[in-house]
Amino acid sequence: MINGADPVDFASLIVAHDEANAFEAVVPPIVQTSLFTFGSYDEMVAAYRGEIVRPIYTRGLNPTVRAFEEMLAKLEGGEDALGFASGMAAISSTVLSFVEPGDRIVAVRHCYPDAFRLFGTHLKRMKVEVTYVDGRDEEAVAKALPGAKLLYLESPTSWVMEAHDVGALAALAKKHGVVSVIDNSWASPIFQRPLTLGVDLVLHSASKYLGGHSDVVAGVVAGSKELIGRIRSEAYPYLGGKLSPFDAWLLVRGLRTLPIRMKAHEASALEIAKRLQALEIVDTVFHPALANRLPPGLTGTSGLFSFTFREGIDIRAFADHLKLFKLGVSWGGHESLIVPGEVVLQQKAQPNSAHSFGIDARSVRLHVGLEGTEVLWSDLEAAITAASEA
Ligand SMILES: *Cc1c(COP(=O)(O)O)cnc(C)c1O
Repeated sequence: MINGADPVDFASLIVAHDEANAFEAVVPPIVQTSLFTFGSYDEMVAAYRGEIVRPIYTRGLNPTVRAFEEMLAKLEGGEDALGFASGMAAISSTVLSFVEPGDRIVAVRHCYPDAFRLFGTHLKRMKVEVTYVDGRDEEAVAKALPGAKLLYLESPTSWVMEAHDVGALAALAKKHGVVSVIDNSWASPIFQRPLTLGVDLVLHSASKYLGGHSDVVAGVVAGSKELIGRIRSEAYPYLGGKLSPFDAWLLVRGLRTLPIRMKAHEASALEIAKRLQALEIVDTVFHPALANRLPPGLTGTSGLFSFTFREGIDIRAFADHLKLFKLGVSWGGHESLIVPGEVVLQQKAQPNSAHSFGIDARSVRLHVGLEGTEVLWSDLEAAITAASEA
């Protein structure tokens, strides 16, 4: 059982392929092909007419990609899912399927920076307006919704981990006839299943926890047959960000261990967050389980959080003294990572680079991997001692 509120039969997900057609292999084969041939004219014309559903060309349908999509749809409690070559491909194809010039969307203010930049460039060019809201302020969200086409959520948010009452926000969107979508990369379906909370569409950077091994860049969106069908027919084939068969195969592999990985990330990260909070030199720890009670529907926490150092720590020395925590972006893999806020704030000349996403120059973002709590804590303690300026 994955989630107390709405159990998923994880065992049924582990066998995600037609064993009879795969030499009874325990792992499905990778159908690494760009096209599929037809036995006859009649078969080809039947496929073109849609009388039979079978792969024609991998940008449209590929069995390995389909195996991943079906697993993810089940995990999120959706009727269907669609895989993409990256999380950003999932975000752009989803958003662009629901807006036209003159429309407006409502988005949470600290959403993933490249989603924010997509809104500030392409949507702007399309004359689609974006209203940013603090997702914790339900009154502000309710005020922004009338007349909008899409409510774009991310909870908890990327750097400062603002956690929202996703079910309440979805209900507000429904009341105003607004399609709601959430980036669920942080919690994964193990700790948050937004479709069961009333959100219309859930998307992921599968490069993070779904893959879990830092060897694939991919994305996915799940929801009702109708809404996924709309994305499949409007933006997906023409923007062309198709998930590759090999990457889908890696994701199927990654999903098998998702529940135990998430529990291990949760336990280590929470313990390290608590120990950091107890240190004099640490100012604030931004971890949803420390900030407040978890909002309804968020049943656990992952390995990604941030904190701010008080004056007295040289952040450059801290970063350079770490041995297990590597300096690197992304997260969700087996390895522990650190990103100093002051480095991100120096990222040059991105569109809308004045927007800080809540990032403070004294902050550090940690991804707590699977190396083990005590060795990771020793690494942090040693680096803090070495970086103390007193
Ligand atoms: C990484 C990330 C994305 C983008 O995903 P890519 O696979 O890198 O395109 C989107 N949302 C969140 C929260 C992310 O961390």
